[in-house]
Formats: sequence, C-alpha cells, structure tokens
Amino acid sequence: MPLDDVLSDIAACRACAGELPHAPRPVVRVFPETRLLICGQAPGRRVHESGLPFDDRSGDRLRDWLGIDRETFYGDRRIGVAAMAFCFPGTSPKGGDYPPPKRCAELWRPQLLAALQKVELTLLVGGYAQRWSLPQTRDQAMTEVVAGWREHLPRALPLPHPSWRNTAWLKRHPWFEDEVVPYLRLRVAEMLAA
Ligand code: SF4
Repeated sequence: MPLDDVLSDIAACRACAGELPHAPRPVVRVFPETRLLICGQAPGRRVHESGLPFDDRSGDRLRDWLGIDRETFYGDRRIGVAAMAFCFPGTSPKGGDYPPPKRCAELWRPQLLAALQKVELTLLVGGYAQRWSLPQTRDQAMTEVVAGWREHLPRALPLPHPSWRNTAWLKRHPWFEDEVVPYLRLRVAEMLAA
C-alpha cells in the first residue's frame, strides 16, 4: 500500500477509543524520503497536545545525540518518527506513562515499514522498540541490548530512551556517550550530506 494511504488510515484509526483516557490522536511523522527512522515508545502528554513527536525534553536530548537542531529534526524529510504506538496511552497514577498499546504495532507497523522504502538506519529507542524489532534480544535487559549495539549495524541501532529519567543510567554507562553517540552523529551527518 502506498505510504500516503497507510498514513491516512492511521490518522483515522480509532481502534483504542474507549480504552485511552482521551480521544485517539495518532502522532506519526514519516515521508517517502525517510532514511533515518526513529522508533520510540509512544507520545507523551506534551506530544499528544502539540502533535509533534519528541516535542519535549526527551526530544532535546535525542537531537543532541543525533547532532542536529530542531529545525533539521522537523524540517528534513529524511528523518522520520514512528513510535511503537501512535497515541498517548495516558499517565499511570503511580507516575510515568502507561505502556504503548500492543495493538498499534500489530495493526500498523508491518504496513508502515513496508511503505518506507528508503530507510537505512532505524533507531530502536527503549525496550519496546527493541523487543519488537530484535526478537532475539527479548530476554535481555535494555542495557545489555544497547551494549551489544554493534551486532545490529548497519540497519538498526538500539538506544536508551532519552528521557531525563535516564540521566542516572547515562552516568552509570559512560560508554554510551563516549562510543555510541559519536557513531550515531557520524551516521546522521553522512545521511544528511548525501
Ligand atoms: S494507539 Fe494506534 S491502534 Fe490505538 S487508536 Fe492510536 S493509532 Fe489506533
């Protein structure tokens, strides 16, 4: 199915209506030109309100890892974002957001990825995206998956979530910013220079 048709169907999706604490508002931003695909967990409240993926502090950290500014992140059609679920799942009373509804990836992911013909590198941001795309790592902790980042190149790169909740994780694992981030910046620079 052509990408435009898949995106129209996603925009009209109401499959989780009645289960979410709000009306579904799918947020996905991909283009026929997308070469770098960023797969996170699900939109947070702020993204749900703005409709722009990674329009929050996590996005600021992610852009720093990528070595690009907001203008490039939102203006360059070679960069796309498609989380494991497209709608904000709501906030748990215990704090933090609910997990992405599994139904979303089952319904949409195969056809969306099939319509993205130019993707060269997929960033698997957090455990949900890693378990879906790298089923062989399903029994591994996120740290172990990210530590094995070289095994999945050149098509996929597992990353921790750039949430500020992971600041302590980044401090405990300095190899991530010393080794993975420079590699990622280089790949992104090469992709955007081509
Ligand atoms: S989360 Fe996905 S499956 Fe559920 S309503 Fe939103 S787009 Fe549809």
